[in-house]
Amino acid sequence: MLRFTSLGSGSSGNATVVEAQPHDGARPTRLLVDCGLAPRQLTARLAARGLLVSDIDAVFVTHEHSDHVSGVLALQSRHGTAVWASAGTWARAGAKVDPAPSCHIACDGQAIVVGDLTIAPFAVPHDAAEPLQLTCSDGRHRIGILTDIGEPTDAVVHALQGCDALLLETNHDPAMLASGAYPAWLKRRIAGQRGHLANAQSATLLDACRHDGLRHVVAAHLSRQNNRPELALAALRGALGATCTLLSVADAVTGCPWVAVG
Ligand SMILES: [Zn+2]
Ligand SMILES: [Zn+2]
Repeated sequence: MLRFTSLGSGSSGNATVVEAQPHDGARPTRLLVDCGLAPRQLTARLAARGLLVSDIDAVFVTHEHSDHVSGVLALQSRHGTAVWASAGTWARAGAKVDPAPSCHIACDGQAIVVGDLTIAPFAVPHDAAEPLQLTCSDGRHRIGILTDIGEPTDAVVHALQGCDALLLETNHDPAMLASGAYPAWLKRRIAGQRGHLANAQSATLLDACRHDGLRHVVAAHLSRQNNRPELALAALRGALGATCTLLSVADAVTGCPWVAVG
């Protein structure tokens, strides 16, 4: 069985657990995607899902922005957890991550095997050094995780084809962003081609990835200032077919409960 849970999503800190449970009862493989949480928060949010920090087999860091990487060094140094990130992310992260043997380089298009999980990273347009997002598969089902991109590209659409579940950035409502209190430069950055997805862009991407096997969609990385869950859900609902049985929002602090795929 393949399942995932968000431990928190958005600019205050991102972390997602993907778990592959073999049918023979062997120990599950657990991947943490990003760690933008302080150690105490990570421990508490994992515990709420029945997990210890030591249950995490590896971390995949999508890019060096602090909401994705701020807790990685503590996790790596205290627990020796293996960390995967692109060369650009490692270089830009600087002191935020520890150059130790547990550091591994991830590349666009190159599969990574961690226990019973196969990770497929793909490049995205986002204002970081070398950002990657990813799909995770247990060989039977596949989850797509996409939290920070500026605009949907053909490569991103291609990478997400055939996923059974998506954790999908649905960042902002353009009208709320335009009329909100953010400075002009930040508004331009968020709405730019290397910023974050507006609700309608997420819906367009979802429409391009939709197929009968897509059963679960979790809207993620919502802006607290420039979006509302009902706006994000309304946009995605319009792009989904009747076969999607679960559409929900990952909360900034509480994330979302386990979503079982297959
Ligand atoms: Zn982010
Ligand atoms: Zn980012």
